[in-house]
Amino acid sequence: MTAHRHPKSLPPHGTSVVIVGAGPAGLTVGCVLRAAGIDCVVLECETRAFIESRPRAGVIEEWAVRALEERGLADTLLKRAERHSACEFRFGGEQHRFDYTEVTGCHHFVYPQPLLVTDLVREYADVRGGDIRFGARDVRVKGIDTDRPTVAYTCPDTGRRQELRCDFVAGCDGARGVSRSALPARRIRVARHDYGIGWLALLAEAPPSADCVLFGMHPDGFAGQMPRSPEVTRYYLQCAPGDDPDKWKPARVWDQLHRRLAAAGAPPLIEGTLLEKRVLDMHDYLVEPMAYGRLFLAGDAAHLVAPIAAKGMNLALHDAFLLGDALAAHFAGTGDEGLATYSRDCLRRVWDYQEFSQWLSEVYHGVSSRDAFRAGTTLARLRRLFTSPVAAAAFAEQFLGTAARY
Ligand code: FAD
Repeated sequence: MTAHRHPKSLPPHGTSVVIVGAGPAGLTVGCVLRAAGIDCVVLECETRAFIESRPRAGVIEEWAVRALEERGLADTLLKRAERHSACEFRFGGEQHRFDYTEVTGCHHFVYPQPLLVTDLVREYADVRGGDIRFGARDVRVKGIDTDRPTVAYTCPDTGRRQELRCDFVAGCDGARGVSRSALPARRIRVARHDYGIGWLALLAEAPPSADCVLFGMHPDGFAGQMPRSPEVTRYYLQCAPGDDPDKWKPARVWDQLHRRLAAAGAPPLIEGTLLEKRVLDMHDYLVEPMAYGRLFLAGDAAHLVAPIAAKGMNLALHDAFLLGDALAAHFAGTGDEGLATYSRDCLRRVWDYQEFSQWLSEVYHGVSSRDAFRAGTTLARLRRLFTSPVAAAAFAEQFLGTAARY
């Protein structure tokens, strides 16, 4: 195609890597590439203001924070994030505090995802001079089995189609993105798991009601509290999958949170205005392999882990470190081993985290399953965490992602 014959499209421009999606995965890959002096373009369908305020994750594992720090990406996080050393399980009307830092020596960092995204956009675009194009519409990835794939998109300002020719495409456009569909169906396998459970995800304008994450296992259903900041707290309530969030009026929400998180000696929950209320259907998927030809998927584009164990953003960062480093090695001429083993190396941790989420799902939801056998085995699992140091160590290692090898 030429500009002459097709005046609505421009001739292709070239860059080394096109990154589709400016979430934690895409921005981290971009920052790593810019630090290595590699030119790249990030295409994001939303605006900068939108991605810098979209609430989601908040819990980051210490190994991920250290890996961000090594790449010069954690200065603000380390100043502002809270360090957590324990979580609390509430069941049978009692509270049981689990000090995971005592067991592993590692922390969870609580840092809302929009703050991390804000830091990464600033670092990529404003500090490292990276090219990022917001509002890119109708992104299409083509020619991934050639040496020079292209990524086409519609520019929001001109309405014209633009084409970027590149050496590699990093598909980091999340669960609802388009890059996954560019993988040939006959070359990949998609594994899925549906928990048949919904969570009402809530953000309350209220300080946390406890200094750590709370997990409430109650016959009415699971409830969770995740501190986000001194002013905002995330809560979860187990509900039916596909439930209508409008059926959850504030009085019903707070009544259920009080009931499901009640424990002798625990201070009452601090109520506040509900800023966000949506139902998440708990399901997982992953694509194997995560790469084909010149397209490499990273983060939720390749695998979704239900937020049961707060793992998705951690996995997105893990992929991004491996992909950024592997691409940097390719362009530095120091070898393609990292690209060759990228999918396998990511998926080992992904499968491990998926298995842990499935295990933890039974802990959270067994008590309310209306199945006396499942409820009994769930309580046995919970008690074991507080009676067996070996079980406690195994749980802490998985909860914090600290295994020496995956
Ligand atoms: P995303 O963050 O989804 O980023 C993808 C980007 O691509 C977005 O900016 C999107 O706008 C853009 N995009 C999409 N389609 C296109 C397109 N066609 N063209 C161009 N751009 C496109 N994880 C944790 O580790 N810890 C937690 O505590 C945690 N809590 C969570 C709580 C909730 C309520 C939810 C929903 C998720 C939670 N997660 C958590 C999961 C975490 O938010 C995700 O795993 C993480 O956002 C994945 O990052 P990503 O960069 O892969 O994808």
